[in-house]
Amino acid sequence: MSAQDWLSQGTLVLASNNKGKIAEFEKLFAELNLPVEVVPQGKLNIEDAIEDGLSFVENAIIKARHASRISGKPAIADDSGLCVPALGGAPGIYSARFAGEHGNDAANNAKLLADLKPLRKDGEVIEGMFVCVLALVQHAEDPLPQIFQGIWSGEILAQARGENGFGYDPLFWVKELNISSAELTKEEKNKISHRGQAMQLFKASLEK
Ligand code: IMP
Repeated sequence: MSAQDWLSQGTLVLASNNKGKIAEFEKLFAELNLPVEVVPQGKLNIEDAIEDGLSFVENAIIKARHASRISGKPAIADDSGLCVPALGGAPGIYSARFAGEHGNDAANNAKLLADLKPLRKDGEVIEGMFVCVLALVQHAEDPLPQIFQGIWSGEILAQARGENGFGYDPLFWVKELNISSAELTKEEKNKISHRGQAMQLFKASLEK
């Protein structure tokens, strides 16, 4: 089996039900012109996997195997989130359910602001980074998942800015552009984001 056998399978399942991620991936995959159709798992009625790993990479592999097992096709999963060193790396792998309910972006952002409030002494800057790990499996028991990781460093704002994106984007300050992540278009964000960086590594793996 070669690392790129999945390219001849016709379909690559995108193991995510997160609308914000799927919208970004649609643009990223369109640029790659892959000879396979990339199908979000929701279109195959595949529900979310139980993410019980302790790291992004473990959860990405769990999600990819789950989608591949049910579909019988190769699958790629993204496990991503925001890590804030001042909070010991939280929300980390719990980013989607930081405030309790899975995918409640408003509640997650409110909890992040509340948790950081006591740490903002004398206008101190709070560093944060978005992390994205992509795992590609050719089949559910693939012993050699391909892993691509992107890290995007920035600062955590004291109040939300911008209407675009999803999740923690309105609280993520992109220093190099003096703008919040939610003030970027999808195209601008994909060029520099954690997900865009991981996709660049994925793309480079296809050129080997
Ligand atoms: P996952 O679906 O378990 O990987 O959870 C990812 C969570 O991390 C999302 O629900 C968001 O809260 C957060 N997240 C990941 N990537 C981004 C991003 O690009 N912008 C904003 N939030 C993100």
